[in-house]
Amino acid sequence: QLKESISTLENTKKKYLDTKFLTENDRKRILVTGGAGFVGSHLVDKLMMMGHEVTVVDNFFTGRKRNVEHWIGHENFELIHHDVISPLFIEVDQIYHLACPASPPHYMYNPVKTIKTSSMGTMNMLGLAKRVRATMLLASTSEIYGDPEEHPQKETYWGHVNPIGPRACYDEGKRVAETMCYAYSSQDKVDVRVARIFNTFGPRMHMQDGRVVSNFILQSLQNEPITIYGNGEQTRSFQYVTDLVNGLIALMNSKVNTPVNIGNPEEHTISEFATLIRNLTKSKSEIVHKATPTDDPRKRKPDITKAKTSLGWEPVVELETGLKKTIAYFKAELEQESGNQ
Ligand code: NAD
Ligand code: UDP
Ligand code: UDP
Repeated sequence: QLKESISTLENTKKKYLDTKFLTENDRKRILVTGGAGFVGSHLVDKLMMMGHEVTVVDNFFTGRKRNVEHWIGHENFELIHHDVISPLFIEVDQIYHLACPASPPHYMYNPVKTIKTSSMGTMNMLGLAKRVRATMLLASTSEIYGDPEEHPQKETYWGHVNPIGPRACYDEGKRVAETMCYAYSSQDKVDVRVARIFNTFGPRMHMQDGRVVSNFILQSLQNEPITIYGNGEQTRSFQYVTDLVNGLIALMNSKVNTPVNIGNPEEHTISEFATLIRNLTKSKSEIVHKATPTDDPRKRKPDITKAKTSLGWEPVVELETGLKKTIAYFKAELEQESGNQ
């Protein structure tokens, strides 16, 4: 344990030392809403390492203080417990607006709250951006394409979403958030960026996240049945979280104010994921099938031509490499949990 504490201290010290190389002119005041969540905390790590001043705003619904605790006490870092549904008055140069539950069980838990977060929360962040003339990046989603009839999905596709189904609180919430971005852009000249993020995985996903990668890894590691919803022929394309973070930063600092897909175009069926994760964890889990959730999209794969040509960005982390890191993370979490009992 002592060894572990020393190595954590050394890592923190290294992070402190690494955050010195920006000149005063390059250093920005950056707000990350939802910064204590899975994606947000990785983004915060990168921005802090670049030497920016970072303020995290989070209501800790699905995020956790421990995701950012290594920055607490750093002079460039601030953590504010705040719900974006309420107005926020601070002074910043850039806003990464990520606050919103992202996994289907989380966003369906309180659909009214999910809609308020995407609509009122985004309006508040646009109002803030308008007042302080900040650039505001919305973490939108591939879910705005719904159960797509165009494959792979390009940014020009308008989508196929059930407006009253169980996923609508999230999908339509993000669609109206995008609409608000462009209304504030044309009417009030707010500088906006819209990232349409495709399925992402990596360390710090919540143990109860309920999305497919964390479910399959946790089930495999515990030799519990791997639950495939439906026949497993539906497809998804998964990107590793560090690729996403690089894409978000590239988009924010570009001049591209129209929506951009950020995802990995390598497409797999859910059955293939189950087998791959089962093999990588050397698990004895059996594979079982459960009912298909209502309105579950049957296929999804981004066309990332726009990100490649306009941002010079593309994913670089191989699926297996990312999965191995994520498996190691969940293994450590499970060991810690059993050690605490
Ligand atoms: P997450 O649930 O881990 O993070 C969301 C964060 O927002 C959490 O820290 C949560 O506590 C916070 N939050 C929620 N409601 C809030 C509110 N009203 N006020 C303040 N904070 C609030 O999810 P994530 O996977 O990190 O997703 C981050 C963003 O990226 C979300 O906007 C999501 O829609 C988007 N996105 C993620 C994925 C993905 O695969 N991870 C895909 C597409 C889009
Ligand atoms: N807002 C905020 N912080 C600010 C400025 C505005 O949270 O620094 C909120 C404001 O309370 C409002 C929303 O953003 O609810 C939209 O702002 P806008 O200026 O468009 O609306 P108005 O204040 O004119 O209704
Ligand atoms: N899925 C599954 N088993 C699980 C969790 C999810 O088969 O334990 C399926 C789900 O039905 C969907 C795909 O995996 O077809 C991706 O689901 P996830 O919730 O991760 O993300 P989203 O549907 O939002 O892309």
